[in-house]
Amino acid sequence: MARGIGTKCIHLEESEGKSENYGALSYPIYQSATYAHLGVGRSTGYDYSRLQNPTREQLEKVVATLENGIDALAFSTGMAAIALMMELFKPGDHLIVDADLYGGSIRLFNNVSKKNGILISSIDCYKEDVESYINENTKAIYIETPTNPMMNVTDIEAVAKIAKKHNVLLIVDNTFLSPYFQNPLDLGADIVVHSGTKFLGGHNDTLAGFLVTNREDISEKFRFLIKTTGSGLAPFDSWLILRGIKTLAIRMEKSQQNAIEIAKWLKEQKAVTKVIYPGLAEHPGYEIMKKQARGFGSMLTFRLESKEFALAILEKVRMIKYAESLGGVETLITYPTTQTHADVPKEIREKNGITEETLRLSVGIEDAKDLLDELEKVFKEVERELHG
Ligand SMILES: *Cc1c(COP(=O)(O)O)cnc(C)c1O
Repeated sequence: MARGIGTKCIHLEESEGKSENYGALSYPIYQSATYAHLGVGRSTGYDYSRLQNPTREQLEKVVATLENGIDALAFSTGMAAIALMMELFKPGDHLIVDADLYGGSIRLFNNVSKKNGILISSIDCYKEDVESYINENTKAIYIETPTNPMMNVTDIEAVAKIAKKHNVLLIVDNTFLSPYFQNPLDLGADIVVHSGTKFLGGHNDTLAGFLVTNREDISEKFRFLIKTTGSGLAPFDSWLILRGIKTLAIRMEKSQQNAIEIAKWLKEQKAVTKVIYPGLAEHPGYEIMKKQARGFGSMLTFRLESKEFALAILEKVRMIKYAESLGGVETLITYPTTQTHADVPKEIREKNGITEETLRLSVGIEDAKDLLDELEKVFKEVERELHG
C-alpha cells in the first residue's frame, strides 16, 4: 500500500528490514573522499565521492521518493543545481522562463546563460500565452509556482500539455511548496528543482540543491554532468538535509497555519495596501492551487503604504529576523528590493511588482501568538513614529 508523504519523509522503504549500519536509525555520515577496491574489477559500488557518496545517495533516494521521480541529485546549493541543469542546453537553444523568479535564477539566466549563447524569453507564464513564444529552437520552459516573491500561480498541467505538444522540457522550481505540498512531476513536468537550503533542510543551517526527474535519459545526462563538473553535496550537509526532511511534514503544516493567521492579520492593517498569499480566496491563483497542490505554503508578500513604513518595520523587528532566505523554523522578513532581487534591474523589478514598499515573509513555526504580538508591537511603533 502506498504510504503517506509524512511517513516517506522518515522511512525509506527500500532500506527497511536490513541490518546494515548496525541498525542505526540515523544514516551514517560517510566522510570519505575515496573508496578501496575489493580487487581488480571489483568495487564496493563507490569509487570517489565526486561521483557518489553513500550519505548523499541515501538523501537522493529520499528526495526522489518524495517527488515521485526515478532519480534525484543533490548539489552544494540550489544555484549549483540550476547551473548544472543549464548544461543540458547549447548555444542557440531558446528557453522560456518565468519573469518573476528567485533573483539568483534571473541573474544566472541573464548573465551566464545568455553569455553562453542561450536565448531567453522572460514572460509571465501564469497569464501569458506560453505557446505563442515557442519557436523551432525552444528547448524548455522554466517556471516557479508560486513565484518568488510575487506568488504568481501557474497551472502546471496546462503548461505541461503545451510542453509535451512541442517536445520541450518543463522545468519547475518547487522550492516554495516543497514536495510535501506539490509534486510537479505528477502534473507533467520533466524536471523539478529545489533549493534544499529552504524547506527541505528547514533549519537555516546549511545550503543544498536538488534536481529530480522521472526521465531515464535526463537522469543519465545529469549523472554524467555531476561527475564531470563536481558540485555534489558533501556528506555532512547531506546528513543535515536528511535529518531536516524527517520533520518536513509537521514544519510545513505548522508554518502554513501560522502564515494563514498572519495573512488575515495583515489584511486588517491600515498601513497594508496588499497581501499576496495564495491561501487567501481572493488570490487569483487560489483555485489552481487547490487543484494542483495540497496546501498553500508559508510564504507571503505584502505591501505597505510607503517605503518608509516598510524600512521602519525592518529596523524594529527583533524575534522575526530581517534576513534573506526562507523555509526555516525561524520567521524571516526580507526586503526583495535590496536583498534577493537587488541584481534585477529596477524597471524589471518594478514591472514584476517588486516595489520599494514590498516585503516578503517566510513564516516559521514559532507560536502564532508570539508572531502576531511582535507584528502588532512593531506596526504600532512605526505608526507612532511616522504619523505621531
Ligand atoms: C533560494 C532559492 C534558490 C537558490 O538556492 P540556493 O540554495 O540559495 O543556491 C532557487 N530557487 C528558489 C525559489 C529559491 O528560493
